[in-house]
Amino acid sequence: MKKIVIKGAREHNLKDITVELPRDKFIVITGVSGSGKSTLAFDTIYAEGQRRYVESLSAYARQFLGQMDKPDVDFIDGLSPAISIEQKTTSKNPRSTVGTVTEIYDYLRLLFARIGVPHCPEHNIRIESQSPEGIADSIIAKTCKNDQSRQVTVLAPVVRQKKGTYGQLFSDLNAEGFMRVRVNGEILRTDEEIELDRYKKHDIQIVMDRLSPAQDRSRLVEAIENALKKAEGLVIVLDADGKEWLYSAKMACPVCGMAFEELQPRMFSFNSPFGACETCNGLGIRMEFDPDLIIPDMDLCIADGAVALYRNAIDGWRGQYLAAVAKHFGFDIFTPMKALTKDQYNALMYGSDERIKFSMSMKNGDAYWSHNGQWEGLIPQSVRLYGQTNSEYRREELEKFMRVLPCPACNGKRLKEKVLAVKIAERSIVDVTDLSASDCIAFFEKLEASLGEKDREIARQVLSEIRSRLGFLDHVAWAT
Ligand SMILES: [Zn+2]
Ligand SMILES: [Zn+2]
Repeated sequence: MKKIVIKGAREHNLKDITVELPRDKFIVITGVSGSGKSTLAFDTIYAEGQRRYVESLSAYARQFLGQMDKPDVDFIDGLSPAISIEQKTTSKNPRSTVGTVTEIYDYLRLLFARIGVPHCPEHNIRIESQSPEGIADSIIAKTCKNDQSRQVTVLAPVVRQKKGTYGQLFSDLNAEGFMRVRVNGEILRTDEEIELDRYKKHDIQIVMDRLSPAQDRSRLVEAIENALKKAEGLVIVLDADGKEWLYSAKMACPVCGMAFEELQPRMFSFNSPFGACETCNGLGIRMEFDPDLIIPDMDLCIADGAVALYRNAIDGWRGQYLAAVAKHFGFDIFTPMKALTKDQYNALMYGSDERIKFSMSMKNGDAYWSHNGQWEGLIPQSVRLYGQTNSEYRREELEKFMRVLPCPACNGKRLKEKVLAVKIAERSIVDVTDLSASDCIAFFEKLEASLGEKDREIARQVLSEIRSRLGFLDHVAWAT
């Protein structure tokens, strides 16, 4: 195999291209924008290489990675299973990790979906769905260690921190045969008048049963089952000392009720709406216009081109706009930026509500007009233009005046909070991909040894895929 032969490539805009490429050579593909360079390199050659790579994996691994479509090409010969190292402009791509550069990330997604443990991001409580039997066993273990005769009260929390008087609820419960409720911590009878402040938040729990767990496990299980039905999957168990435990039968945080879906590999992908941080759409960054890039040199005046954003257009109407703004705020186009007062600078940069008279004349003086209006400010104007333009070139020009900040919602981690709170051995998927190759191998070796039998079986194949690829990376002295 000395060359890669591609015949009849028609993906996207490629027009039935036939080409031969030398193997094991560094190849540069050039051409005007839109000629199909990346379609050939990524969507055809790489897509086919990756498809072959996925086909080389075990059936077990394949079922989670999804079907890969064959690119629209008649024939490709001489191609090995491929992985791609995507080059992005460094200003836009925060960083690549071992996990994202190689296909290891696909296996990590799989592993986290299979054995990851969700936690409430707010309360750091392990989220699990529990059966009534499981809850009963946990109660017996917690309450009956020393004293087999201790009693507990099983409660169904039907109102949690909500306002209202709940008169109808109490009479309905009484009609259903529930004689006691616990209202804001106090046990009350439903056949007596219960007065609640309409404008305060209340906790109302139905008393399902009072019993001794160790002596009557089946009655405990029944009480828990009934409570779960009444309280949409929640049950509270209260012991004689007033200590209480809240359980959820659903995948939900027992404290705040935040619901969790069943884990799926796609939730761990920042390219998927199921996983991507909703604030930054999975990019991990926020770009914002930087005043110090828009006016980089405070020694300059507007006439010298102090506003770098407008440097090419200083003679045009934009320059005249700035002159009008300067005049209105008491300076002129020959005032060095460093001489502006704070208010003048802020007005120039962020705009003002004041009505300003803008006078415009054409360069040759044969047209003149004026109008009154507001000055929106260099930064709001840039934000608006950036949002409006459809031109990639214009957007890139404007991006020169932006600085890149980590996304405030995900701290640059690109995934939803809930996804980042799924842990394996106390680590999120991002914690794992941030490890160096050798630490990562150590982590997985330790992990496999620590897993229970069921999880280990699930994870074994995934782990071996991860290890062989990490081992390969380690072997070629991967540098990150
Ligand atoms: Zn919570
Ligand atoms: Zn984000």
